[in-house]
Parts: sequence; structure tokens; C-alpha cells
Amino acid sequence: MSSEPTETSVYIHFPWCTRKCPYCDFATEPIRSSALPHQEYADAVLRELEARRSDLKGRKLKSVFFGGGTPSLWGPHALGRTLRGIIGAFDDLDEALEVTVECNPSSLHQENAALLREAGVNRLSLGLQSLRDLHLRFLGRLHDSERALASLGDACKEMPRVSADLMFGMPGQTLEELAEDISRIAEIGVRHVSAYALTIEEKTQFGSLHRAGKLEVAPEDQYADLFEHVEDRFSDLGWTHYEVSNYAAEGEESRHNLHYWRGGAYLGLGAAAVGCLDQGQGRAERWRNDPNPQRYLRQSTLESEVEMLGPKEIVREALMLGLRTIDGMNVASTERRAGCDPKTGREREIERAIDQGKLLQVGDWLRVPQKHWLKLDGIVRDLF
Ligand code: SF4
Repeated sequence: MSSEPTETSVYIHFPWCTRKCPYCDFATEPIRSSALPHQEYADAVLRELEARRSDLKGRKLKSVFFGGGTPSLWGPHALGRTLRGIIGAFDDLDEALEVTVECNPSSLHQENAALLREAGVNRLSLGLQSLRDLHLRFLGRLHDSERALASLGDACKEMPRVSADLMFGMPGQTLEELAEDISRIAEIGVRHVSAYALTIEEKTQFGSLHRAGKLEVAPEDQYADLFEHVEDRFSDLGWTHYEVSNYAAEGEESRHNLHYWRGGAYLGLGAAAVGCLDQGQGRAERWRNDPNPQRYLRQSTLESEVEMLGPKEIVREALMLGLRTIDGMNVASTERRAGCDPKTGREREIERAIDQGKLLQVGDWLRVPQKHWLKLDGIVRDLF
């Protein structure tokens, strides 16, 4: 390992929600709030951290992200104890350490927002999805528009930085509704939005309904209209579309996610968590923890899948993630991590994409112009 500490982020997965949303294929299980094992889960995550401690030598903590599931169901004291353990496990900390907790409006109130702030959290990401009752009911969410607005207000009062998730492509959703939701969110004080198209995942309730012909989804050209409309509204606000699904006011980009898209090292903790740590140039280990929360709590097995990445996989990941961002993929830093020039072996494909205007080389960066982001998957596939 180099003498410079390697910047490393930490992701903690909280594997429970009070109800499973019909479109969601994340690793979560429904649970009654009263049955949540708050302290036991903190104990299990801290045990895992201890077991991985030797991997953290010489690393600098860049950011911490509590995702899920619904981490706002986790008692702030148990979450705070976990956070202190994580911070204590690193020799060095980023001066602007970003600590984010994903929250659902139904379980985020001013009181727990304030407790999370006291525990060291400085950013909340709210799973809002929409400010319309009709769409929230369709998505099977626990909150209505009134609760959504109240939780946004509470979050903005207590936290320096707040992000909101928005979804588009629900049946009957209009461009005007989407524009109004965006304006209201920004007026309340939110400075970052993740906007995702509703997609039908096979192993979900929506997947079964779709297969049975009982659920209509928006046609592809309507998604394209909505995507462009969202982009225009944020551009009117002066925000940057800095990643395919993410928009931010100046300086409000998610540092945790940028680190990930730039191929940075990250430690994953908790049931179903994924981690990937570099092991010298051209080598990295990626793992996925046992997704079953009960087994994870007992910790009879720590990992369920481990994969070694070599130079080829590191370059492919860098292309897949880096080209999602406005800056693109940095050629020199990818070469340092992979131990080989990422352009070698794909010179013709790169040249063709540049000729077609789908790829730009700007200094040391390769990037896809925003107007081609809707076709990004195909562009990246051609470079593999
Ligand atoms: S609250 Fe979020 S993580 Fe939980 S089921 Fe719904 S979409 Fe999935």
C-alpha cells in the first residue's frame, strides 16, 4: 500500500422496512417496528467491523452511508454507537466527513432528525418518490403527501444537507406534476435530488402483475420525455445533472456516491452489504454479506460471496461507473488502480464512439455527453 492513506468509504446496510413496497427488489424484509433488534444489530455490525479491522490499516475514512431498507427505523442511539465504532476504526478521517442516513418520511420526525444530528450524521436522504397521494398510493408507500412535506421540513430544519428521491414514470403522471414537485422540494431547502424512472423488476409484486398483464408501464418515449423534462427543471434551478440519476445545487453532490462512481474503495457492513477493497495495484476483493438478517445477527457465516477482481474487471467497473458521471472516467487514476492502460485493447471502439459523438476525450477524462445518457448502457457495452 502507498504511503498516502487510501480514501475509503463505509456503507452500512439496514435490512428491514415496516412494509415491502410492490416495486422494490432491494435486500429488505418487512418487520413490525416493535420487533426491531436495534442494539443487537449494532452489536453484529460492530462485530463485523472488528473482524475486518486489519483491512483498514493505512486507510482514511472518506464518507459513511447508512442505506437499506429503512435505516430511519434504527434507534438513533444504536445507529450513533455504530457510527462511533466505525470512526474509531480508522487512523485518519476526511476533514469534511460526510455521514448520510437514508430515511422514509413515515419514520422521520424532527425529534429523530435532531438525535441523528447529535449522533454525528450531517446528511439525510429522504425516500420521498412523489408529492402526490395518487402516485404514493400506487407505489404502496406508507406516507402521503402531507407527511412527505412535513418530514422534508423537519429534515431541513435539523440537518445541514438534505437529499430527496423522486420517481417518475408512474401511470398518469404529468410533466406539470413533476415540475411542481421539483419546485416545492427546492423551495423547502433540499439541495440534492436522485430522480429514478420506475422500472419493473422481475421478482417483485409489480413484476408478477406486469407478467399477468395487469400493470401498464409508460412507453419508452414517455420515459425519455420525463427524463428530459426533469433535466430542464433542474437546469432552471441552476443545479448540475452530475450523474445519470442525480442533480445537485453547487457543492451539494453526494461525496459518498462520487467516491463510488470514481472507483474508490468501500467497506460494506451489515446483512446483504457489498464491499470492495483494493489489495494493491491491479487487485481488489469484492464481497457480499449473507442477505439473511437473522443469520447475519447470529453471524454463523460472515460472507456469502467473495470475488477477486483483476485489472480487466477493475477497468470495466471504472467504465461502467465513471461514464455515468458528468466528468466521466479518469484515465490516469484508472491506470493507477488497474495497473494497465484502460484504453489498451479497445482503441478502435473508443475511436468509433468518439467519431459518432457518443464519447469525448477531455484532457485525462473520457466522458459521454449528457444528450446520450439515455443510451448509456449500449455505449458502455460497446467499450467492453
Ligand atoms: S421503503 Fe425503500 S427499501 Fe423499503 S421496501 Fe420500500 S422502496 Fe424498498
